[in-house]
Amino acid sequence: MMNGRIKILTRDGLAGAVKLLLEPPREIALIVHVNPDGDALGSALGLSRMLENLGHHCLVISPGDFPDFLKWIPGASEVCRLDQEKDRAVEYLVNASLIFVVDCNELARISALNDAFISSGAYKIMIDHHPEPALQVDYSLSDTSVSSTAELVFRFIEMTGLRECMDKEVATCLFTGIMTDTGCFSFNSSKRETYEAVASLLEYGFDKDAIYYRVYDNFTFQRMRLLGFCLNEKMEVVPGYRVALISLTREELARYDFQVGDTEGFVNYPLSIKGIRLSALFIEKEDHIKISLRSKGDISVNELSRKYFNGGGHANASGGESRDGMEETIRRFKSILPAYRDQLSANEK
Ligand code: 5GP
Ligand code: MN
Repeated sequence: MMNGRIKILTRDGLAGAVKLLLEPPREIALIVHVNPDGDALGSALGLSRMLENLGHHCLVISPGDFPDFLKWIPGASEVCRLDQEKDRAVEYLVNASLIFVVDCNELARISALNDAFISSGAYKIMIDHHPEPALQVDYSLSDTSVSSTAELVFRFIEMTGLRECMDKEVATCLFTGIMTDTGCFSFNSSKRETYEAVASLLEYGFDKDAIYYRVYDNFTFQRMRLLGFCLNEKMEVVPGYRVALISLTREELARYDFQVGDTEGFVNYPLSIKGIRLSALFIEKEDHIKISLRSKGDISVNELSRKYFNGGGHANASGGESRDGMEETIRRFKSILPAYRDQLSANEK
């Protein structure tokens, strides 16, 4: 089924993809971006399960670990991690006849696989909703107006006529992607197509409420304490701007027994302060500062991340990094704000 809203960059590419998919069994690799989130994993695992139901062999490859609150997703325990099994991942990629890159549109986000990806002769498909796609592929399904990559994967399955290969697990994966990338339908979720996709997915009979609990009520006691510490002692509002930020050093993270994923969502909290339009989270990693940015309205944090922090993302949710150390990074961030003064002080939508 075709959906008029979706931009098909290479129309012939879909026919090529369908031809390959209808000739099982194939070795298919599915790649997610570094620090994969619910959308990346939900999309890859949903697609992978659907393709396995069709008779293919699949391997989902992640550059690294991912949070516990995503480890229950069907198929998550089978994910091949580059930090643990790089040789296996590269070998699989080299022999694959099809490669999907989902929720990612640039090589920098799958960096450890760059060479293997570029040199592979496989048919390459990108399914993604980030702006400015920059991956060389045979077929690209790319639309920034869609809630999530998982919603696009659902459209892809419909477009390829493979709906009968879906099941409850596929639907569970895709719903998880849509739910997490829309903040439980609180942003990027104003279009009826999203709810139509969700309605179709619900027909497969998964327990929507249970998925919510598994993702959002799955934190450790220490993580809640860390959140309290952030809000109480580390959050600051930048005087003269509608901007708030939180920073966390490695020592502070260690104090609260930091686990992968523990700071996920922290960047959203300052945005619920009345008047705040931009929120920044700075996390100290071993050799860099990881930056997360969120905004409201017309302030493009994607642009800000690209321009100043070697990053990218969406207009209202982006990330980047800095090698300058915490204090200098925050000073530099604050020094950028005058360039955004007009957008920051514009009336809220
Ligand atoms: P988060 O702040 O949750 O890590 O990321 C928010 C959004 O920004 C996601 O869509 C993610 O893909 C994107 N993003 C985060 N960090 C980076 C980065 O370093 N480079 C790029 N290009 N995108 C990023
Ligand atoms: Mn996404």
